[in-house]
Amino acid sequence: MKIDFTKASFKDFENIPGLDAFQTAGKFQQYLDFLRQNGHLNYRIESVSPVGPEMELLLPGNSTPSKAVCLVSNDYLGFSQHPKIKEAVIEGISRFGTGSGASPAIGGHFSYHELLEQKIAKFYKKTDAILYTTGYTANSATLQCLMHQEDLAIVDMAVHASVYEGCITTNTKQFLHNNLDHLEQILSKAQNAYRTKFVVVDGVYSQDGDIAYLDRIAALTHHYGAYLVVDDAHGIGVVGDTGRGVIELYDLFEQVDIITGTFSKALGNIGGYVIAGRELVNYLKFQSKQHLFSTTATPAIMGIVKAIELIDEEPAWREQLSRNIDYLKSGLVSLGFDVGTTCSAVIPVKIGDIPKTLEAGRLLLRSGIYTNPIMYPAVSKKNARIRMNVMSTHTREHLDKVLNAFAAIDHQLHLTGKS
Ligand code: PMP
Repeated sequence: MKIDFTKASFKDFENIPGLDAFQTAGKFQQYLDFLRQNGHLNYRIESVSPVGPEMELLLPGNSTPSKAVCLVSNDYLGFSQHPKIKEAVIEGISRFGTGSGASPAIGGHFSYHELLEQKIAKFYKKTDAILYTTGYTANSATLQCLMHQEDLAIVDMAVHASVYEGCITTNTKQFLHNNLDHLEQILSKAQNAYRTKFVVVDGVYSQDGDIAYLDRIAALTHHYGAYLVVDDAHGIGVVGDTGRGVIELYDLFEQVDIITGTFSKALGNIGGYVIAGRELVNYLKFQSKQHLFSTTATPAIMGIVKAIELIDEEPAWREQLSRNIDYLKSGLVSLGFDVGTTCSAVIPVKIGDIPKTLEAGRLLLRSGIYTNPIMYPAVSKKNARIRMNVMSTHTREHLDKVLNAFAAIDHQLHLTGKS
């Protein structure tokens, strides 16, 4: 089967008719080589410096690293480099060692896991939480454990891939992104047709940076006898007066049935969590296979305990992030770019066309601005964009450099219609 590399996406190589796994990998290698030759291979660029507002990158074909302003990190508050958090990680490792040695069922559950579970639950005004190795697993494992053939997951079409993976063992219906009428249509038809019904949404959406209409979604969900699951991976630490995310923004601590999230973004570490009522959390602790039979997190999670405290103790990071978001967003808008409906630290510059987006990403990188070109299948085919993540540690100088680079690529690629 002939694949046109100029129009292809990674999805075209998932399952090629007539090719076995190794032949498929060979075909995919040709595609990767094609992208690399054109400077359009944006994945797995090697950084040789710590995460930060500026990073040193080993670009393909170069043996010496080059500096770039980094807009690809979810370390929104700069916490992966915070001295007090590093100290807590070091203390955790000094005291408990580098690994936990077992899965929680059979000897790998330690006081630091218990402490973190309590800390993250309390942060959301709840008493119970369960840890997973990643945010991805928190979503996929929880939904897989709780939903079966008799059940229905109703998901916003823009939810994260991990939610879709969690729905493999159940029925799934997608509603149009943030479209309440469509959600209600599905809920009203499903009301008596399924046993457990979950409505699953993200708090902040990872490609558009916009926010779920959670108050109305919660009301509709409960009106039709369904349960609400919210993944606020990008909201924690960033959104809400005290950084409790989208749930705080709408004051829905009592209305969300299951909260999921990650420690890998604003909290600067790794791992996922699920927060819910005691019985449901206990059920997961003893029934969710990915939790039960997978080794627990290392003592380095003591850093997450500190990071959660710092969200309250050092609000200046969140305030600076908010100023940086406003500055970059308004700068891009005044240059004529379309940043959509973002209300968070995720800022998309919508371009639409895939080849132009790839070229924009290449030119930006060449001028020392590291961004993520995002295209199908992560977003629909005509919705390609350059996605940026703002950090509180970006300076005005960094952001001005970004804006100047966007003005320059607009001259070359005519993206806004202004140049
Ligand atoms: N949910 C959302 C909305 C995300 O954007 C991500 C990460 N990209 C995840 C879940 C997965 O989190 P983790 O990286 O901790 O696996």
